[in-house]
Amino acid sequence: AEEVGGGDKEVVREYFNNSGFQRWKKIYGDTDEVNRVQRDIRLGHAKTVENTLSMLKDEGSLQGVTVCDAGCGTGSLSIPLAKEGAVVFASDISAAMVAEAEKQAKEQLATSEDGSVPVMPKFVVKDLESLDGKYDTVVCLDVLIHYPQHKADGMIAHLASLANNRLILSFAPKTFYYDLLKRVGELFPGPSKATRAYLHSEADVERALQKVGWTIRKRGLTTTQFYFARLIEAVPM
Ligand code: SAM
Repeated sequence: AEEVGGGDKEVVREYFNNSGFQRWKKIYGDTDEVNRVQRDIRLGHAKTVENTLSMLKDEGSLQGVTVCDAGCGTGSLSIPLAKEGAVVFASDISAAMVAEAEKQAKEQLATSEDGSVPVMPKFVVKDLESLDGKYDTVVCLDVLIHYPQHKADGMIAHLASLANNRLILSFAPKTFYYDLLKRVGELFPGPSKATRAYLHSEADVERALQKVGWTIRKRGLTTTQFYFARLIEAVPM
């Protein structure tokens, strides 16, 4: 198979193993060492995770449901999913992220409130293009922002091929307002803003899904001051 990502992928891997790891570990964590913008992004991301969990639980209990969390980061979604009884396969291109997710899972999943022991997610260092197998559900949150649409198309098709029942994706929507905000951001790049951000139009994502026989069933949107994410749940047509 032709490699998706190319040069972008190496830059992204390097970033999320180094400065990006430090930056996002803070944002996704709960300490006070975040600035106002980072705190706002933390809040927005937490809402996306929360909305994803309710989309998933809408269809019934997650007990025993297999979920692939592609680009799991520090485990923000994988850990609550495991608490719900899901059988989680979590992977990320960054070894630093996977190690952190594993550490947090060990701390947070020792025993649940009712005394039962949740199944630990299986954490693996792997880029999502080389994932294989089949899962009831595949989730990929806030990863597409690192890839331009022509590469995102292949990623979406690949993720859909791994899912039996549903695919949940979040991405930064290409709207006029956000485009503008991004341009402003490029004028004032922060010291650790080392990677490019790519926005995706909902129509492009929808087309990529339709090409492989999937259709969007539910849509959500999270916006805070500095965080914008469209959330979609797709199912086979
Ligand atoms: N999904 C997590 C969440 O929402 O908490 C993390 C989101 S973070 C902004 C993006 C993550 O995607 C990083 O952990 C990064 O290492 C990972 N990533 C980027 N490109 C990837 C790829 N091609 N395959 C797998 N993971 C990737």
